[in-house]
Amino acid sequence: MSSVPSPASPLETMAQRELTITRRLLWAGISALSVLWPLEAVTGVIATWDRWLYPLMLVVFTGLALWLRRRPDKPQVVYLIGGAMLNTYLVAAALMAIFTGDLQSSIFPLVTTTHWMPLGYAAAFVVMARRASLILAGLTMAALFVPVGVAIAMGHLTVWGPQLPVLTANLALAHGVFILGLISIASLRNGYIRSQERIAVMETLASTDMLTSMPNRRALTQQLQSHVALANRHAQTLSVLMLDIDHFKVINDQYGHAGGDDVLRELSAVLGAQLRASDHAGRWGGEEFLVVAPGVGLPGAMDLAERIRAAVEQYRFSHGQPVTVSVGVTDFRPGDTMDTLLRRADAALYGAKRQGRNQVTLQALP
Ligand code: GH3
Ligand code: MG
Ligand code: MG
Repeated sequence: MSSVPSPASPLETMAQRELTITRRLLWAGISALSVLWPLEAVTGVIATWDRWLYPLMLVVFTGLALWLRRRPDKPQVVYLIGGAMLNTYLVAAALMAIFTGDLQSSIFPLVTTTHWMPLGYAAAFVVMARRASLILAGLTMAALFVPVGVAIAMGHLTVWGPQLPVLTANLALAHGVFILGLISIASLRNGYIRSQERIAVMETLASTDMLTSMPNRRALTQQLQSHVALANRHAQTLSVLMLDIDHFKVINDQYGHAGGDDVLRELSAVLGAQLRASDHAGRWGGEEFLVVAPGVGLPGAMDLAERIRAAVEQYRFSHGQPVTVSVGVTDFRPGDTMDTLLRRADAALYGAKRQGRNQVTLQALP
């Protein structure tokens, strides 16, 4: 039985976007490293460890970018290795810059390292939930600023003079404010996901008939319109069946509106059981149902209509009385619009009613 087409879920879309952003960040990092490594090496300002760590990171990040291309289904590997490597490197490099003896006379390696750390925070906020990202960013910050703060408080880093404590406070505050900004962006993102989820629910509601859970007239109209366009463009066959329950008013009169509703629900199940996956069926309104059968010509459509008619006639409805349907059948003709097609199906249905009901009638050709 056909169902209302469901768009990609908001969370799926979000995962796709995270993948794209991660890919961009990786290539941006690779490009930055490709510039910084030779630049620092040629000018001689490169730190001893960076002579090895820059090329190592280049290799790892390139490997991760290639992995992401080959296995987009397993991005967690990239998030984990890339994130751990970036954050560990930045914190370790900053700590070494401060604590390694031969560099104590220069603030350069500290500054050039710490201003990249927000990239690590931002990457976490891209792929992780708000709380986990906050914890990770907090831990990364603490891993750098706690040892430095303790060392300063204990008077171990005096070579730097008053510049280091002030610079450390400046950096820590800047990082804190940056993380605050990321939290705000994460809140916006959460709000966006929630509204996308709500939109998905609304779209389903807007195209579903609440009584039978079948596609409603709105959904059927969209389906039919797109199939008419396809049929016109690619000369594809297309048939339409219009069903109407016979003497439904009598059922309502005898068993009440709720009894009538039960019949509509049961009939939708009987109808659905006769359809192929490619057929679209739904409630057109009241006690009328429409079947759109793409790729089905007139003989196939007549067979389908007769199968449905017979299945309804044989089905034992819970109110205990037989129910029958009349079916009007038509197929697509070149130049047809949705309206002309529906008008012929309706005319065929009217013919079936006039000829005594519980039967299938073909379009009356003009
Ligand atoms: P015919 O064989 O000519 O189709 O006769 P009929 O009585 O089925 O046709 P008619 O169109 O006169 O009556 C349809 C009835 O369907 C009238 C309306 O009250 C009832 N109906 C429409 N929608 C619903 C619904 O959602 N639930 C129930 N229980 N009845 C409905
Ligand atoms: Mg009727
Ligand atoms: Mg009717």
